[in-house]
Amino acid sequence: MNRLPKIILVLLLLMPATLFAQVAKPSFKIVPLGVLGGIDESNLSAYMIAPIGSNNYACLDAGTIHYGLEKAVKNKVFRSPAEEVMRHNIKGYFISHGHLDHLAGMVINSPEDTVKNVYGLTSTIETLKTHYFTWESWANFADDGGAPQLKKYHYKILTPGEQQPVENTEMMVTAFPLSHSNLTSTAFLMKSDDNYVLYLGDTGADAIEKSQNLNKLWAAVGPLVKMGRLKALMIEVSFPNEQPDKSLFGHLTPKLLMAELGQLQKIAGESVKGLNVVVTHLKPPVKSILKIKEQLRAGNTLGVKLTYPEQGKMLLF
Ligand SMILES: [Zn+2]
Ligand SMILES: [Zn+2]
Repeated sequence: MNRLPKIILVLLLLMPATLFAQVAKPSFKIVPLGVLGGIDESNLSAYMIAPIGSNNYACLDAGTIHYGLEKAVKNKVFRSPAEEVMRHNIKGYFISHGHLDHLAGMVINSPEDTVKNVYGLTSTIETLKTHYFTWESWANFADDGGAPQLKKYHYKILTPGEQQPVENTEMMVTAFPLSHSNLTSTAFLMKSDDNYVLYLGDTGADAIEKSQNLNKLWAAVGPLVKMGRLKALMIEVSFPNEQPDKSLFGHLTPKLLMAELGQLQKIAGESVKGLNVVVTHLKPPVKSILKIKEQLRAGNTLGVKLTYPEQGKMLLF
């Protein structure tokens, strides 16, 4: 055999692997409607998620709705106007906990919204029922709580660890409790076919919160990491490393996030190198946000793929 055919043979053998790596098909699209942890009320936690090929979205948290949709429309992510996307493409809200920065957009937009489900753990739904949709804070657009009930939103209580369908979408969801200072927050594991995205609402680290909630969550998703089925993990980092433990109020720093991802790697028994980690809930001022990004970059010895979501710009995983 002369040299040339040998080279061609080697190239042919290599080609499928290269091609496969380049066209590894995404499974989910995520449209961030708000990405920060305060104080800008036009950019607070809310992420639309749908399987590729579907326009039936769930909305993970709902801090900012309208302004984020307008930005997405401007970016040509959606063809219909913002109000139409909210009314027809958001099929349900998943509220991680009762803090305003995770639900204000839903409450404010509720008069213009359509009939849909609001999903959450018992404690979160209780807060909506007794503190927001009450007729004292806002009209009761829900189907439980203070009379009269306008019955636009149907409360759907999620049982931790139990998978259930997301109505009017092609997805399933499993909720897991998180420790967030005095509150129980929630992680939502979204499933489409055999692929998953894990979204965490606000959370502290187990060591600081004296909790096992993250450890239990890592145990639950470890097998998915091992099988390469976890397409993305969306998790908060609110403060730079300098924030004293006593002033974390149930949030993470770069150092604490990396320690938790180390735990995930240990429990999964598989390297998390290359895992898509979407960093959410960075708290202004800008100086602090820049510091968080630099500390994450420097501390990323695990080699995860860090992504910073931008309001109104679609992400594919
Ligand atoms: Zn928050
Ligand atoms: Zn919070």
